[in-house]
Amino acid sequence: MATKVAGQQCEASNGAQNQAGGHQEVGHKSLLQSDALFQYILETSVYPREPEPMKELRELTAKHPWNIMTTSADEGQFLNMLLKLINAKNTMEIGVYTGYSLLATALALPQDGKILAMDINRENYELGRPIIEKAGVAHKIDFREGPALPVLDQMIQDGKYHGSFDFIFVDADKDNYLNYHKRLIELVKVGGLIGYDNTLWNGSVVAPPDAPLRKYVRYYRDFVLELNKALAADPRIEICMLPVGDGITLCRRVS
Ligand code: SAM
Ligand code: CA
Repeated sequence: MATKVAGQQCEASNGAQNQAGGHQEVGHKSLLQSDALFQYILETSVYPREPEPMKELRELTAKHPWNIMTTSADEGQFLNMLLKLINAKNTMEIGVYTGYSLLATALALPQDGKILAMDINRENYELGRPIIEKAGVAHKIDFREGPALPVLDQMIQDGKYHGSFDFIFVDADKDNYLNYHKRLIELVKVGGLIGYDNTLWNGSVVAPPDAPLRKYVRYYRDFVLELNKALAADPRIEICMLPVGDGITLCRRVS
């Protein structure tokens, strides 16, 4: 079954139709086998409950040429609920783009909640910022423009950030996820969560070696595979890989 899905998606990456009416392109924000089922989830449970600012940001982002990168609405809803369930207050996000997951996070946190948000590209964040401001949650966000790794290194060196984050969402350069993990495991508190996004990488994690994958999907796939193996073998965390969006692996620090 899994191989079939991957096969369909690889074909889909080449523009071919698949019989199940499944996803045609990388960027369909679900690994479900039918678009109809995904639409059902969105229309039945996500869109009717989506906060107005998130809808506005989603619609604005849809017009942006790189909209393939945005977090899907169902994943945004999931993150929002997860953060409330764990009573998150101090959080971090690596990879902001126009800010859809950031807004889902900011809306879930208490008034004095904090998000350290990092992205090498400020321009895209600035597109979404007026909506985040209008939503009254911009004061929770500390946006840093630039690569995340040096910021993490600085925080590790400082010492005072160790074990201080309730939740960290990683949604940036997949070839650095293991480098992030080495540092984030120190920065997240024991009992806190790290969420690594896109860990099913458009289903390509089970694609056969000769599958016709898009270049960037093929390139990052090996890093995603390596990350998934490393997380499964890491005794410092409990893990749960969820097929929401493009796959998100939740890691709960236990030691
Ligand atoms: N979470 C976002 C959302 O909900 O729309 C999507 C993030 S997008 C998939 C990945 C982002 O990671 C891009 O905006 C990119 O600029 C950023 N990025 C890439 N390399 C980075 C790095 N080394 N440090 C920080 N951000 C990086
Ligand atoms: Ca993502």
